[in-house]
Amino acid sequence: MKLIANTQKPDELQARLATLIGRQVQLKLHMNQSTMVSVRPKEAHVLVNLHKEFVQASEPVIHSLADYIKGERGAKTVPLKRFVHEVVCGIDLSSQGKKVGSAQGVYWDLQALYNDLESKYFDTPLNLHVAWFGTRKRRKMPKKSTLGLYYDMRRMVKIHVLLDNPKVPQYVVEYVLYHEMAHAICPAEVTRFGKVVVHTKKFHSIEEQYPLAKEAEIWLHGNMHILYPSQLKRWF
Ligand SMILES: [Zn+2]
Repeated sequence: MKLIANTQKPDELQARLATLIGRQVQLKLHMNQSTMVSVRPKEAHVLVNLHKEFVQASEPVIHSLADYIKGERGAKTVPLKRFVHEVVCGIDLSSQGKKVGSAQGVYWDLQALYNDLESKYFDTPLNLHVAWFGTRKRRKMPKKSTLGLYYDMRRMVKIHVLLDNPKVPQYVVEYVLYHEMAHAICPAEVTRFGKVVVHTKKFHSIEEQYPLAKEAEIWLHGNMHILYPSQLKRWF
């Protein structure tokens, strides 16, 4: 089931919920992850506190949320729970990629690069969303960062805006993007010791099929300081 849809305005979401539950709704959006949803019935309306990510919830999730507001706690709330789980994991993973950003950067168009890679190197369409994430502002940069992220449930790839830079060669942006796309066809494996391996041997063999993989690795090792002078411990 698709959990994420196009972003809607908060007042649209408020009106949608009011229609679905048949009562006035006062919607308040927040960024607090510990209580993603809270419902307080008032005399004339229902006060609903929601995490901001709900503005991009899909129709089934909104229906499920409406059922939850009405007091439903059973199977009907499964899409809602899945959405909450996904949002919490997503935020933890990137610690900054809080919203679905655009694929059009200032220098590189991720969607165009994605389409090209998909048709050249993958047998079947991957149907992934692709977006930039992160900030160029130094003071806001996290201590550790990643250049690319893959979200399996969201079918989404995010690339750090640090790479949206004219100093970064196209093959480097492509390589990071390709790496994340490869996750979509190569699931993590659990070893007999119970360890989860994301970058498996099979994964690396797929990764090497990008013709400039080695050159891109060399560029990244030698040039990351240009974009991000310190602290970048893990790349992707
Ligand atoms: Zn990876």
